[in-house]
Amino acid sequence: MIPYGRQDISQADIDAVLDVLKSDFLTQGPQVPRFEQNVALHVGASHALAVNSATSALHIACLALGLGPGDVLWTTPITFVASANCALYCGAGVDFVDIDPRTYNLCPKALADKLEQAERDGKLPKVLVAVHLSGQPCDMQAIGALAQRYGFKIIEDASHAIGGKYRGEFIGSCRYSDITVFSFHPVKIITTAEGGMALTNDAELASKMALLRSHGITRDANQMTHEADGPWYYQQIDLGFNYRMTELQAALGNSQMERLDQFVARRHQLASRYDTLLAELPVTTPWQHPDSYSGLHLYVIRLQLDKIGKTHRQVFEALREQGVGVNLHYIPVHTQPYYQRMGFRQGDFPEAERYYAEAISLPMFQALREHEQGQVVKVLRRALGIHGG
Ligand SMILES: *Cc1c(COP(=O)(O)O)cnc(C)c1O
Repeated sequence: MIPYGRQDISQADIDAVLDVLKSDFLTQGPQVPRFEQNVALHVGASHALAVNSATSALHIACLALGLGPGDVLWTTPITFVASANCALYCGAGVDFVDIDPRTYNLCPKALADKLEQAERDGKLPKVLVAVHLSGQPCDMQAIGALAQRYGFKIIEDASHAIGGKYRGEFIGSCRYSDITVFSFHPVKIITTAEGGMALTNDAELASKMALLRSHGITRDANQMTHEADGPWYYQQIDLGFNYRMTELQAALGNSQMERLDQFVARRHQLASRYDTLLAELPVTTPWQHPDSYSGLHLYVIRLQLDKIGKTHRQVFEALREQGVGVNLHYIPVHTQPYYQRMGFRQGDFPEAERYYAEAISLPMFQALREHEQGQVVKVLRRALGIHGG
């Protein structure tokens, strides 16, 4: 089976992890701060906090921004559940903004309309999570302007987008946001097995997230309520978690970072090859906004069902049966049973639901070979009922 995504591990990656295993520190050593500095420098942010997953990064980002009971977080329905769940961890509520039918990202026009209504109702969100679906950045300029006007905070969920750019600057620079989050799960662009990172240009947010990552404990005399009892002393000044990344993970991350730009360039090669190979088929290939250089975590096609004598599910199943490990990113979050119990209904976000009825993620990962890509297209043609060619 050709998977939809797969990690790319080199001998240098393996050696980097083995070196850590033979060293003094398996956790809380030099690799984690090095990894943080590495990523922060690459994307142009002042502070970076490595954690054990993007889900953890989203959680401490929300807490650092003061999200709590009585507050609401808004995000897109077309995302992994973690982008919304982070609000619920904090005791806050969640609402969604429908997607733009061209980029599949949260629609800035729908956001503006919903904010206008929310202001009238006195129900403005405290935090917006802007998800860069497939790696293509959201319209951050428009979202940033709305944040200024309505006073909400922005978290970029850039789990798909490390190595991508928005208006010539790397995603993660936080030019239009308070905090940006990356994921290093193996299907993402670079991996640390499990792992994530939160980036910010705000020293205070960075310091809050550093505390929350490790039990709310500080060893910094300036943060303590009184002078230290002795050299052993630390204080717990907040309620935090153990969300730390290990040295093994950070060593892998440091090694992977050396190939990040190469990985993204390869994904662009594969995407433009797909664009060409699929041009004549009854599918919509991913539209790229001219302001964006996508990280291209995913290559999502939409079936033009009115031109195909098969259902979405039939095409999907035919691909899987013939060895093409397609996937679907994502089931609209508001249709999940857990969210339905909160009162969301089918029909609430029609563009997102239309997308879900047509989308298929084709295999996209740096090690995908051209003959495999050719095979994917051949199987897709057959699955669409197109013969010959
Ligand atoms: C993968 C992903 C996450 C969660 O990342 P983990 O590192 O697995 O916790 C969150 N948001 C989006 C959009 C993702 O794709």
